[in-house]
Amino acid sequence: MPISELKLAKELIRRPSITPKDAGTINLLAKNLRSLGFKCNLINFKNIKNLYAKLGRSSPNFCYAGHTDVVPPGNISDWSVNPFRPAVKKNKLIGRGANDMKASIACFVAAVSKFKAKNKKLKGSISLLITGDEEGLAINGTKKVVEYLKRKKEKINFCIVGEPTNPNKLGEMIKIGRRGSITGRLSVIGTQGHVAYPHRANNPSDVMVQILKKIKEVKLDNGTKNFQASNLEITKIDIDNHVDNIIPGSVNAVFNIRFNNKHSSSSLKRKLNAIFKSMVKRAKCKFNISYQVSGEAFLTKPNKTTYMVQNTIKKITKIKPKLSTTGGTSDARFIRKIAPCLEFGLVGKTMHKVDESVPLSDLKKLSNIYLNILENYFK
Ligand SMILES: [Zn+2]
Repeated sequence: MPISELKLAKELIRRPSITPKDAGTINLLAKNLRSLGFKCNLINFKNIKNLYAKLGRSSPNFCYAGHTDVVPPGNISDWSVNPFRPAVKKNKLIGRGANDMKASIACFVAAVSKFKAKNKKLKGSISLLITGDEEGLAINGTKKVVEYLKRKKEKINFCIVGEPTNPNKLGEMIKIGRRGSITGRLSVIGTQGHVAYPHRANNPSDVMVQILKKIKEVKLDNGTKNFQASNLEITKIDIDNHVDNIIPGSVNAVFNIRFNNKHSSSSLKRKLNAIFKSMVKRAKCKFNISYQVSGEAFLTKPNKTTYMVQNTIKKITKIKPKLSTTGGTSDARFIRKIAPCLEFGLVGKTMHKVDESVPLSDLKKLSNIYLNILENYFK
């Protein structure tokens, strides 16, 4: 009997694996995959469980990547069902992880079981890279598994990341890259003083306002064929002043840039630091800046597998998926270091929301798409 995507999705959702908790999801997957003949390698880092499972040994190796962890449900009383007791209502499966992305994993496992039933001999291998740390810090998840696989000289020829990629309808969008993301925390330090005696103080908020205006107005680029224009957003401005008669001694601000592959995190740092330096100097203030880079921009140039996937999706959904680089970061930023990859999964409309759900028809279709991709890949 092939594995049912709906049954497996429900079993996964029933396990409340809010990052970093695993709640038995990795073992449940390993059990299902072993029953299909996969060799399961549990690769744990600190408190995080990860799985690399492989069927067959020869090349090419087609990989599916995903995560079993989910974000918290928020206020459970806002849900129409218990988020960890999945239920089908109006032909939709509702539960935390229903589209980000337990159901997608279930679709792929079900697809493999159908593929195996039809094809006794596999010319190559199928693997799954599953992590329990994607929604959180993502330090002990895919990032480290990729380093581990690299050390072991494990070759992956192509990888599909099963994150939700479609904005409204299944079939609309494949992701072939992602923008980079950098957060900057800037402090400007002046001299504190009495608000009635400004000549004895140096208010750092004046220059901070000018700096923020300036960096917001810098035109980073006009976008490229594959990417939208890079964008900076100021996310926090903070003068920690509790009285009205003091000129503050320091002021803090935070900003985030989503950038395309015309920039790198280091080229952006150089550009911004030069602005801070010259403006702060003119104001006779000092500054501190710290950056956090969540990922560099990347693009996987479409190859024949990309187009095969695109055509397969079109055949089943009657929609030709766009090759896009929009949205936030994903684990593809790590995997692309060892293999060409693309992302295709469910419709992301309800992800991270109350009553996260997936239409049963999409579950069936996605599983069918994955099955057809496997068949075309190994033809
Ligand atoms: Zn996700």
